[in-house]
Amino acid sequence: MRLPLSFEFFPPKTPEGVVKLRAVRAQLYAMKPEFCSVTYGAGGSTQAGTFGAVQEILAEGVDAASHFSCVGATRETVRAQLAELRGMGVKRLVALRGDLPSGYGVGGEFQYASDLVAFIRAETGRDFHIEVAAYPEVHPQARSAEADLQAFAAKVRAGADSAITQYFFSAEAYWRFVDDARAKGLDLPIVPGIMPITSSTQLMRFSDACGAEIPRWIRLRLQGFGDDTASIKAFGLDVVAQLCERLQAGGAPALHFYTMNQSVATLGVLQRLGWAA
Ligand SMILES: Cc1cc2nc3c(=O)[nH]c(=O)nc-3n(C[C@H](O)[C@H](O)[C@H](O)COP(=O)(O)OP(=O)(O)OC[C@H]3O[C@@H](n4cnc5c(N)ncnc54)[C@H](O)[C@@H]3O)c2cc1C
Repeated sequence: MRLPLSFEFFPPKTPEGVVKLRAVRAQLYAMKPEFCSVTYGAGGSTQAGTFGAVQEILAEGVDAASHFSCVGATRETVRAQLAELRGMGVKRLVALRGDLPSGYGVGGEFQYASDLVAFIRAETGRDFHIEVAAYPEVHPQARSAEADLQAFAAKVRAGADSAITQYFFSAEAYWRFVDDARAKGLDLPIVPGIMPITSSTQLMRFSDACGAEIPRWIRLRLQGFGDDTASIKAFGLDVVAQLCERLQAGGAPALHFYTMNQSVATLGVLQRLGWAA
């Protein structure tokens, strides 16, 4: 039996990208996802693109989640955006703090994602299903693993319904995080975020930035393939499909794929699992 699935996209920057993403979504819709989500550039830099893609997904008959980051935002701007999203028929948000690109001032009236979750609940009651981010390998700016877990608990107690994790390659880190959350009385679904491996350099760059750990054996194998992209993809498919199998066997509630606006790698994993034709 397959797990419920969701797919994440980022807002394309060009008209060609918009057209290409429509085709990618159409291919992934064959998997009947629970929802598709669209990322949001911190500081509101992609608001039009994010909301545009969310609107298209809803019009295609699929539930859509808008990511929503609060760094640099004010209560007034958040209130206006919530009204716009509600008007579009959006029922699901991924509520985040976000990271401001260097050069932006800090400013803003929200310090942490928990402030945003509390504000959304106070303003809109139960109108939105709220997802928050979770970090099985600890957020890079956290003072400690325990402080990060406390921060996660604060988001849940502020009103989050479910969580999506940063990607990881160590199932143990995920299970440990889930156990620790349960021990704190947090019983919401914590959905593993899955990053298909298609490029060694891209994966290293992302992982260094977001604090996701690439186990040494995976890093060394990838480095050993050099520019041999076929071998990188074949190896990546094995690693990620086995991770998904272990997560399913251990009782993960669903899988959320970071598609990087591509269908091939995600569908490859789902085919390997026997879930896609
Ligand atoms: C599923 C997922 C989707 C994402 N989508 C986007 C996106 O669309 N756009 C984007 O810009 N980024 C996105 N990100 C990245 C995210 O914005 C960054 O990881 C950001 O640095 C933290 O956001 P957060 O919502 O987890 O913040 P928070 O939960 O606020 O945590 C941020 C840091 O502050 C600490 N902290 C929190 N509360 C407290 C407190 N009360 N006291 C002391 N420390 C505290 C935490 O431990 C952590 O180190 C996503 C991440 C994930 C996992």
